[in-house]
Amino acid sequence: MKQVLLCDFDGTIVTTDTCEFLLDTFVKEDWRTFNTFLERGEITLEECTRKQLYMLNISEETALKTLEKVTSFRPHFTELVDLCDAKGICFVVVSGGLDFVIKHFLRIKDLEKRVHVYSATSRITGDGIELSFPKLVDCTSLDFKEDLVKQYNEQGFRTIYVGDGLSDFNAVGRADFLFVIKDSKLAELCKRENIPHREITDFQEVIKSLNDAPSPSSR
Ligand SMILES: [Mg+2]
Repeated sequence: MKQVLLCDFDGTIVTTDTCEFLLDTFVKEDWRTFNTFLERGEITLEECTRKQLYMLNISEETALKTLEKVTSFRPHFTELVDLCDAKGICFVVVSGGLDFVIKHFLRIKDLEKRVHVYSATSRITGDGIELSFPKLVDCTSLDFKEDLVKQYNEQGFRTIYVGDGLSDFNAVGRADFLFVIKDSKLAELCKRENIPHREITDFQEVIKSLNDAPSPSSR
């Protein structure tokens, strides 16, 4: 069976949430209120992220310089990409974050050509950062992350998801197998809603599980 590993970026591939870090550093207004609205289901993930990142009026250079000082990869990320290559598992970074940040950090590890990135496209306007999100394929999807998992499910893939945040919550219920960063917001939500998951602190645990798992014959 075809398999895909869908992996969140902020707080998952890198241990810092790069968007939150930039917002905390450069935005004086209360950007976290939008997270509360999102958690209550009053706005979509796309609306939430669009509003928050439009508050961020900085250049690409400033963003990257700021983040380079604080951002590090979760251990064993490159080995996970290597293993997915070896096993023919498609690796997709699915992120509500900034595309130029994701690509910059993947380039540092020389991985930008080895993984797909599914995210909004950002544009620095001089007033704030404008995001345009991938269009939903299924208009009943709650957000583009859930929509992507559905697309892979429908194409007959076994879907493995790794995430840490509220932004992953709608997607994870759709995945066949779920890894969640220990002590994260997503871990809290999955426990509350009884969503089966395995908690991890680094990618070694995902590697081990992919190596141990017999080739799946059914979903
Ligand atoms: Mg995250």
